[in-house]
Amino acid sequence: MLNIANPYSPIEEIKLDLLSKANLRLFIKREDLSHPFISGNKWRKLKYHLIDAAEKQKSEIVSFGGAYSNHVLATAAAGAKYGFRTKAFIRGEEVANPILNLAKMFGMQLIFVSREQYKNKDVWGPANLLPHQYLIAEGGAGPLGEQGVEELVEKWEYDHIFCSVGTGSTFKGLVQGMMQQQNHGIVNGIVVLKGAEAMSHEFKCLPPHRYKLHFNYHEGGYAKTNPELLEFIRWFASQTGILLDQVYEAKMIKALINLIDKGYYKEGQKILALHNGGLSGLLSQL
Ligand SMILES: *Cc1c(COP(=O)(O)O)cnc(C)c1O
Repeated sequence: MLNIANPYSPIEEIKLDLLSKANLRLFIKREDLSHPFISGNKWRKLKYHLIDAAEKQKSEIVSFGGAYSNHVLATAAAGAKYGFRTKAFIRGEEVANPILNLAKMFGMQLIFVSREQYKNKDVWGPANLLPHQYLIAEGGAGPLGEQGVEELVEKWEYDHIFCSVGTGSTFKGLVQGMMQQQNHGIVNGIVVLKGAEAMSHEFKCLPPHRYKLHFNYHEGGYAKTNPELLEFIRWFASQTGILLDQVYEAKMIKALINLIDKGYYKEGQKILALHNGGLSGLLSQL
């Protein structure tokens, strides 16, 4: 069996005046420190896929993503580390950027497909798979991805857990992990896509008292930024030494802080936020 060691992911307390004034404690689980490029939830979501691929004796991983996909880069780096060839279908016209260049450096083969074609990838992707190839869904989604996320949950005593929500598989894995550990505490998902309220249906299988999705903190939509968000990233980095990416984690932490003024927490509560990395995305935009 493929032996994948547990990643380094300490929990650190964050000290900020606005937290002590509100009598709240904030902790960040530093999933971003697990690996520079296989970071955070992408690492978690790849783990059981890679183990499954090795068990099935597949030699090449095939996956999909946008031109700034953290998942594509993570797959490239993980493939190189654990002995798989890698290939990714990239949405849209051929481009070069630091993320894709890094993926190529890890030996990944990139194939650009039109947005039109990309929409049907779940049809032609599996249909054209060769016997030595193993397919991983976009973002590492699916039950094997969730299984990896579940495993990061330990016996915790936090009142609120926060994560950002793209596809939502990290969020779902977190809720499931919380239930397995019989932890109390609500899992809060900050949705970074605009108009994604319909997504709630996907989580109907989870007990409703376990989680809350927040839809008003997308900051204009997926991958959209604005001066306040970028200023927030600078402020948070200067106060804590922690960099947040502009697509996911900055929106999540900013929301978590905004919720203080909305009276969302009770005094004395403990909050844990999951930092899932994605920093190559930030660095490629500086
Ligand atoms: C992919 C990603 C997410 C979103 O995870 P989902 O499981 O798709 O919801 C959040 N944060 C970072 C840094 C990511 O790379």
